[in-house]
Amino acid sequence: MKDEVRDRLAREFRGTTNYREPMKNHTSIRIGGQADVFLKPIDLEDLKAVLKIATEEDLPVMLLGAGSNTLVRDAGIRGFVITSLSLQKQEIVSQNEETADIFCEAGVKISAFVQMAAEKGLSGCESLIGIPGTMGGAIFMNAGARGIEIKDIVREITFLDVQGTLHTVLRDKLEFGYRHLKLPRGAIILSGIFRLTKKDPQEVEETVRNYQKVRAETQPLNYPSLGSVFKNPESTKKGEVVSKAGELIEECGLKGVRVGGARVSEKHANFIVNEKQATAKDVVVLINLVRDKVKEKTGVLLETEVKILGEDT
Ligand SMILES: Cc1cc2nc3c(=O)[nH]c(=O)nc-3n(C[C@H](O)[C@H](O)[C@H](O)COP(=O)(O)OP(=O)(O)OC[C@H]3O[C@@H](n4cnc5c(N)ncnc54)[C@H](O)[C@@H]3O)c2cc1C
Repeated sequence: MKDEVRDRLAREFRGTTNYREPMKNHTSIRIGGQADVFLKPIDLEDLKAVLKIATEEDLPVMLLGAGSNTLVRDAGIRGFVITSLSLQKQEIVSQNEETADIFCEAGVKISAFVQMAAEKGLSGCESLIGIPGTMGGAIFMNAGARGIEIKDIVREITFLDVQGTLHTVLRDKLEFGYRHLKLPRGAIILSGIFRLTKKDPQEVEETVRNYQKVRAETQPLNYPSLGSVFKNPESTKKGEVVSKAGELIEECGLKGVRVGGARVSEKHANFIVNEKQATAKDVVVLINLVRDKVKEKTGVLLETEVKILGEDT
């Protein structure tokens, strides 16, 4: 990184700066080359300061939450990687007899949000327990489980555009899709407000525990992974609606298939696990192998849910 950029960061930025930071330390699959600069701003002003430096120095910026849906290639990421993890505020901002609205910043972990809601007897997000991302990542991805998605509970979001201008957008103006939210390029989600329904706290906590149990029974949580690698296809196969990518992968006999240290999970065919110090290349080759075999055998072209970023070695 140029000396001018280092000097400016030292002068104008108050958060934490790590040069040549291994991204494997910041992704759930424990894979990824170095980011040129990894930055943890302490507040909104600090975030704006770093975006200003990036714009003026013509450096690319990537926003990272918990890295639980992101595969970083082996040669890492050029420019700035900014983490949202210092944005940790969550609180009830309004309520009536039936519902409560919770303000939640982007860096709050999804499970912390669900736990907080459960303790207060607020229902509507129980099935999101165990998704290892942040609420910012969940909004960006329209994360969901067991029929509930972020779009079902969000009332509004606030984001920063690349010019450093704040925008608050109400739910009916947000264009959510399957594991997708349409946002201006480079937008950084800062927070959201979520509406949940009041219920008996014990009942909500019990539901959360049950969802946790189901997750542990059906997902390979003992290995690093990225969750579901492929989106569930919306196309049809032999006239039937195909709903589960995992079922197609299993049907093609691909469970347990390995490339280097990466392996298609035996427990959940749509998970690729980092079994033995896999490289990003191992994972990408395995993703392509699975996609090709499923296309060849079933005619369905799977689309990746995980974001693959950075440069190859
Ligand atoms: C074991 C396991 C189970 C999982 N189960 C589920 C599941 O049931 N349902 C589901 O939907 N997903 C699941 N996932 C995937 C993942 O946890 C979710 O997609 C989660 O919402 C990603 O959040 P994150 O903070 O980790 O995002 P990251 O991986 O850090 O980022 C993902 C994308 O979002 C962008 N992004 C992140 N934060 C922001 C922000 N503040 N502003 C703008 N852009 C941002 C990033 O730039 C990137 O493009 C699972 C993953 C694992 C490892």
